[in-house]
Amino acid sequence: MGIAQQYCQVEADVRAECVQAGRNPESVTLVAVSKTVGLDGVKQAIDAGARDFGENRPEQLAEKATAFPQVRWHFIGNIQSRQIRTIVSHATLIHSLFEDRHAAKIDAVAADLGKVQDVLLEVNVSGERSKSGVEPYLLPALVEFCAALSHIRLCGLMTMAPQGDMAAAQRTFAGLRQLRDEILGGMNDVQAQAFSQLSMGMSDDWRCAIEQDSTIIRIGRAIFDDNFA
Ligand SMILES: *Cc1c(COP(=O)(O)O)cnc(C)c1O
Repeated sequence: MGIAQQYCQVEADVRAECVQAGRNPESVTLVAVSKTVGLDGVKQAIDAGARDFGENRPEQLAEKATAFPQVRWHFIGNIQSRQIRTIVSHATLIHSLFEDRHAAKIDAVAADLGKVQDVLLEVNVSGERSKSGVEPYLLPALVEFCAALSHIRLCGLMTMAPQGDMAAAQRTFAGLRQLRDEILGGMNDVQAQAFSQLSMGMSDDWRCAIEQDSTIIRIGRAIFDDNFA
């Protein structure tokens, strides 16, 4: 199968899974993670109907977002301070914020660019050393810090599950959902309205994520890798 066909297949599978989970398919955004392909691959996915793309390298984000400004670009990668201007210039939504100092810089750059930057806070729910993200017990303090910044809008949380262990994935996604509910409990109405997104689920575990209320799934290989079974 080619990229267009694989995109359409994933989209159909996601809709079917939503129905099975008793959820409205419109409540889940499918982000096509295009980090392994070039402009041509992105074009094929756009032609198949993709409207949200994810990138983990700022230069790639800039190049692709400049070539295809008609779709939304999500930044899902490691944030480095010196690349924040590039990221904020092109990202509709940043999924991977977990440090105060980066939040402060995003806020300053966004103010300078005349935008309010939508962000998700990445949480290391599983506690794996290899995973990035804020530790759950430090999340409330990070939320409080970000809530005071006028050019950042907190839109929700993001996590990555351990690979190859569906029970652990399920616990991780359920854990993020619970953290979302705890944070919502301490927010005012305006903040709570914006804080609606759970970015969780990748090629191997998105079905499990949808069962746990995911609103954004980030799919790379199932769309762009010919050999993904
Ligand atoms: C690469 C990547 C994805 C996509 O992973 P697949 O397993 O290829 O679907 C999702 N989220 C993040 C943060 C990534 O880096």
